Amino acid sequence: MDRVRIDLHTHSTVSDGTDSPAELVATAARAGLNVVALTDHDTTAGWQPATQALPPGMRLVPGAELSCESVDAYGRRVSVHLLAYLFDPTSPTIVAEQQRLRRERRDRLRTMAVHMAADGLPVDPDEILGLLDPDAPAGRPHLAQALVRAGLVSSVDEAFTSYLGNGRGYYVPRRDTPVETAIEMIADAGGVTVLAHPFAASRGPTVTPEVIADLAECGLTGLEVDHPNHDSETRAELRDLAKELDLVRTGSSDYHGTNKTIAIGQETTAPEEFEALVARASGAAVQVG
Ligand code: AMP
Ligand code: FE
Ligand code: FE
Ligand code: ZN
Repeated sequence: MDRVRIDLHTHSTVSDGTDSPAELVATAARAGLNVVALTDHDTTAGWQPATQALPPGMRLVPGAELSCESVDAYGRRVSVHLLAYLFDPTSPTIVAEQQRLRRERRDRLRTMAVHMAADGLPVDPDEILGLLDPDAPAGRPHLAQALVRAGLVSSVDEAFTSYLGNGRGYYVPRRDTPVETAIEMIADAGGVTVLAHPFAASRGPTVTPEVIADLAECGLTGLEVDHPNHDSETRAELRDLAKELDLVRTGSSDYHGTNKTIAIGQETTAPEEFEALVARASGAAVQVG
């Protein structure tokens, strides 16, 4: 039999991807994947529609990408994305924190849009937020799409480079969850956690190996080693670090549909690493829906 193909990091229209959850599992099947994780930002709303649309032979790993924060070597705030899998989505702590984050995301996106409008850019904050479900995890890609529609930029990528990226004038940070708190919250709900694109320097300041060692002590399960934003040197460094700290090594595309140029299944996780990840989850059968 062919080797099982596994992609553990994807986004649907429930957050900032462009495939609906049902389309996403169909896209995964067409790309020859056998296992796909749905990891929308700060929501589990896609689990049920994805499960219902699952093609025969495809396994769905229910997950989410949690917006967290940590510090760098100089004590500066660092945005950290934590992939969480196989946790109980009805955990009251998780439900409350995800609701808080989605409100925070909406308020922060409005602030960014208001600043742009005040500078005379063709952006209508009410219109942008009005297009989103009130409980959706609003993100910069939504604002980027509005800039494309307004003709200000020709692509989502250009919107990030010119206006929305970390360090650009309109970037506004959020009050995210301390990453240690998030790791404990997911472990308490039976799940496992993987640090997403830990050394993706193009996204802004990143955590240090020392911080990752502390997070491993806290119960972190794995590191996303193979990610489109990591070059081969970075991957080698992360692979060694994961080995040293006894962390699972994953590889994933971080697929966002047409909001990015990355194909689903472009990066994959080795089956033995996936088995190790699942083995560390303590949740009994996870209820989807
Ligand atoms: P936010 O969650 O609002 O901070 O926005 C971050 C999201 O924007 C993440 O999901 C990234 O995947 C996406 N993103 C970051 N940089 C880019 C880029 N250059 N082009 C397209 N999407 C990006
Ligand atoms: Fe995203
Ligand atoms: Fe991310
Ligand atoms: Zn992601």
